[in-house]
Amino acid sequence: MNKAALASALGSPSAFGQSQFAFMRGNAFEARVKADGGAELLRLVHEKLDAGAEPPVAGLVPDLAAVGPEGRAARTALALREATEAGAWTLLDHPMLALDVAGSPAFLEPDAVVVHPDGSWTVVEIKSFPMLDGSADAAKVGAAARQAAVYVLALERVADRLTPAPEVRHSVLLVCPKDFSNLPAASAVDVRKQRSVTRRQLDRLTRIEDIAATLPEGTCFAPDLPTPDLTAAVESVPATYAPECLSACELAFHCRARSRAEGAVTSLGRSLRAELGGLTSVDDVLDAARGTAGDPADPAVAALRRAAQLRAEALGSRSPAPEGASCP
Ligand code: SF4
Repeated sequence: MNKAALASALGSPSAFGQSQFAFMRGNAFEARVKADGGAELLRLVHEKLDAGAEPPVAGLVPDLAAVGPEGRAARTALALREATEAGAWTLLDHPMLALDVAGSPAFLEPDAVVVHPDGSWTVVEIKSFPMLDGSADAAKVGAAARQAAVYVLALERVADRLTPAPEVRHSVLLVCPKDFSNLPAASAVDVRKQRSVTRRQLDRLTRIEDIAATLPEGTCFAPDLPTPDLTAAVESVPATYAPECLSACELAFHCRARSRAEGAVTSLGRSLRAELGGLTSVDDVLDAARGTAGDPADPAVAALRRAAQLRAEALGSRSPAPEGASCP
């Protein structure tokens, strides 16, 4: 489903994604990196990943236009095969790849894939965060590596259908603006670990038809349904909102409101939720702190009571926090 459309239909439109300004700046940087038939991009791939190969002079940039994601994925597979047979530097600009996720095809669009003269393939990710003195924000590089690892897995599915199967390189090229300029800087990123983790996660995913089988008969998430019906359908699916959802999921505002209304402690963060053990709601936590509920042998309950006692002492009273007192 289109989760952004679903969030809008539920009355909690998503603010997920880049600002318009960041989006335009990112697009302008990507266009610059790929200008002149990808000459600079191919030069960077040669320099960082394949210095022993012949330097690219005039790389090929095949046309990947086709109708629909399936058509584009088929066109990409054909272009990859032709480029591999040609044995020449080739840039595939925004190819389309398909990957089976929980029994359903997901279509993925890397920024670029480069075919080397030896027939091997490299994923290229172009990001708009800066690379300062040759290194970038570790968290952002990690996120880019996880994203690229999914593309590597999808490319391997394409390679497996060719004989002999071309090598899909496990080092990807990350291209970023150099020191806040709009000149490109590049770095090879080894994604073997992220690839293995993602492959294991994909293998373990519950299949979509098994998830669908657990839903009430007739559940439908079509965004054009009346809002009450749509809300009831979405709420029939358990959700465990955490603040991390805000940067990763279009439904975050909807799930946050639902989680807060239920008083779920996960809305305060997954690490806090883990520390509180069996106490899953804010009311449970307050009752445990006041001594009106909870097993005193439970380390979380004991810690909460101690914290409540310290708070009372700090406020000049030895009595437990009164009913209805707000948490600091
Ligand atoms: S719980 Fe988080 S990840 Fe799941 S649907 Fe809600 S916002 Fe998205």
